Amino acid sequence: MKDMIPMNTQLLPANDESLSLAARLLADGQLVAFPTETVYGLGANALDAQAVLGIFAAKGRPGDNPLIVHIHDRRQLADICEVTPDALRLMDAFWPGPLTIILPRKPGVPNEVTANLDTVAVRMPSHPVAQALLRACDLPIAAPSANRSGKPSPTAARHVFDDMDGRIPLIIDGGESDVGLESTVISLAGDKPCILRPGGITQAMLESVLGPVELAGSILRPLEKGEKALSPGMMYKHYSPDGQVTLIEGAEADVVEALRRLYAHAAGEGHRACVMCFTEHMDALRDCAPHDIGSKTDASEVAHRLFNTLRLLDEEKMDVIFSEVVPPEGVGLAVMNRLGRAAAFRTVQAKEITS
Ligand code: AMP
Ligand code: MG
Repeated sequence: MKDMIPMNTQLLPANDESLSLAARLLADGQLVAFPTETVYGLGANALDAQAVLGIFAAKGRPGDNPLIVHIHDRRQLADICEVTPDALRLMDAFWPGPLTIILPRKPGVPNEVTANLDTVAVRMPSHPVAQALLRACDLPIAAPSANRSGKPSPTAARHVFDDMDGRIPLIIDGGESDVGLESTVISLAGDKPCILRPGGITQAMLESVLGPVELAGSILRPLEKGEKALSPGMMYKHYSPDGQVTLIEGAEADVVEALRRLYAHAAGEGHRACVMCFTEHMDALRDCAPHDIGSKTDASEVAHRLFNTLRLLDEEKMDVIFSEVVPPEGVGLAVMNRLGRAAAFRTVQAKEITS
């Protein structure tokens, strides 16, 4: 990995001037963080191996975790990957948007982007600022999430600044990310289409276009010993706040009562404790340092708020955190994939606490 030389980091609002500066930096092999509809990305010219290595250095990212290549025009794919008929169907249905497709790679893609795999991940983002930047530089841009490795993905420019100040020259501020969770990753490189990472484009949406789509086994559980991650990113401890997170499952009234008791016990032992609960339960849990994760009827709102909440818990130096859960369906599957990892899959049944 390249040594990091501390640099001055500019945080600029998205406008013609900042975007042309960003395009010049990218063409010059430097790194730029920019907003997308999923989370903020940390971009480099995907065809410049040295520039791509800079991403790994700035993030502290393991070199065996490949990056997603972002484009604004399908014609750019000619040099990057094979485009299968299923891939075209997905692009017609969901691009631009929060869907990453894994396809067989072309030889011109640097191994630094793909971590030496024979496949490559590609996505066309819908965020207007991301699109304007991709058009301005007219390069395929390799970009993972713009957080330091092990931190929650950034959903606001301020999060990127907290993680990357002094490590990259420019952050473009385009407001809060809409989806709030990273893109859905689907592989079309195996025998059957398979979701490697759930996101805003759900299994049902993908199946409406492709027919049956498999789900990678480790989406709602840790990898087993010796089990190979289909998506290398799944190997790593991800999305984890500094405090210990425990998920509480069960009937609504039991969960609220269990949260109250667990909080009281932890606070009584001198911990900096809090609960993550639905808007509907904020009042009932007002004495439990509640953090509002959104409405129980709206998994997309929970997705939108999740990473911001996890970052807030670190800022508040919380060391014991109890959280409600959403049903693992639709966007809720993506929420539980991230929340499960934040909790290292530590789960308690509310009934065991209340009875
Ligand atoms: P990030 O956007 O930071 O979450 O990182 C990109 C995600 O896409 C990681 O989880 C990678 O493991 C995954 N990814 C990128 N390229 C591939 C690939 N060729 N095969 C499988 N997963 C990939
Ligand atoms: Mg990431």
